[in-house]
Amino acid sequence: MVSEIYKKGETMKGYVLEDINQASWRDDLPKPVAQDDEVVMQPVIVAPCTSDVHILETLAFPTMKGKPLGHEVAGIVHEVGSRVKDFKPGDRVAISAAAIDWERPEAQDGYGKYNMISPYASTDPRLMGCFAEYYLVPQADLNLAHIPDEVTWEQAVALTDMATTAFEGVEWLEIKYGETVVVYGIGAVGLMAVCAAVLKGAGRIIVIGSREVSFEVAKAYGATDFVNYRDGDVIEQVLTLNGGPVHAVVVCGGKGVSAISDAVQMVCLGGRVTNVAGHMADETFTMPNIAWGFGMSDKSIRSVMCRGGRANLERLLALVKYGRFDPSKIVTHVYHGMEHIPRALEQMGGRDRTAIKPAVFLE
Ligand code: ZN
Repeated sequence: MVSEIYKKGETMKGYVLEDINQASWRDDLPKPVAQDDEVVMQPVIVAPCTSDVHILETLAFPTMKGKPLGHEVAGIVHEVGSRVKDFKPGDRVAISAAAIDWERPEAQDGYGKYNMISPYASTDPRLMGCFAEYYLVPQADLNLAHIPDEVTWEQAVALTDMATTAFEGVEWLEIKYGETVVVYGIGAVGLMAVCAAVLKGAGRIIVIGSREVSFEVAKAYGATDFVNYRDGDVIEQVLTLNGGPVHAVVVCGGKGVSAISDAVQMVCLGGRVTNVAGHMADETFTMPNIAWGFGMSDKSIRSVMCRGGRANLERLLALVKYGRFDPSKIVTHVYHGMEHIPRALEQMGGRDRTAIKPAVFLE
């Protein structure tokens, strides 16, 4: 039934995952057509992510093979299906990296993000990544967000995964005004977590990192204290600096899953830890029983993933529109022309210590 799904002969260009460490440009990908509740958007700006790098290096999602990479995108509505109510061609739109299948019962309980409509999770050949000339969005009225005129493309794309992930992690910390919060790992997500902690009323905000460029942006966002991995044990540094344990830690990075254990050792009785970092290796972390209060410390750990959906993303866009924070400070490199996507991906792979987040305008 290919002829019904794709307009005959219409193709598009995209940067396709071929195999482990192999990606290439193809210009014969079938251009999607919007049906029913779907929108086809034309990406204006995309951002590569460490998860794209991970997928490329490990083929973590074999369903991605033969599809374009990419999941951070803002663009223009190109075509709408017959059941789409709130979007029309020409609208400026963005989408959370966790596009959700809202027709699953889990979505009613708030866990729809684990039934993602994404090229990673789906075997549907029509669902492809956004490093392409066109991008298909199912259940568009629930997954797409309108970008207000006041919000730039760089700001919008920075929200789609970096802020939707960080803000979700910080929201679960339930920060009380004036509390001390640690942001463990200040890549792009950690820096967005600094903004979220400020907006949630944190007092002292201690960040843990190593790159000068990240410390600078963290300071501009409102971090008050700076801990460097290279200066020794981070738990000791935080406890000494603060004169005792902190109230809450959001783990956005660190060297492996043991960062979660470190975080528990930094928080006070009743302290909260959330983890938003994807610790991809098959490892185990151990918990010192004393730091865990012999199981009676009221400390909590929550593992958190990026929040999906239109309502959440439109709230984040409102924060930007009204000047509450500027996510584009994390965009350190901007490219024009989709041919720069491989270079931007390489930067995201961590070999460039001056890069926090590159973004690529497709034209
Ligand atoms: Zn991402």
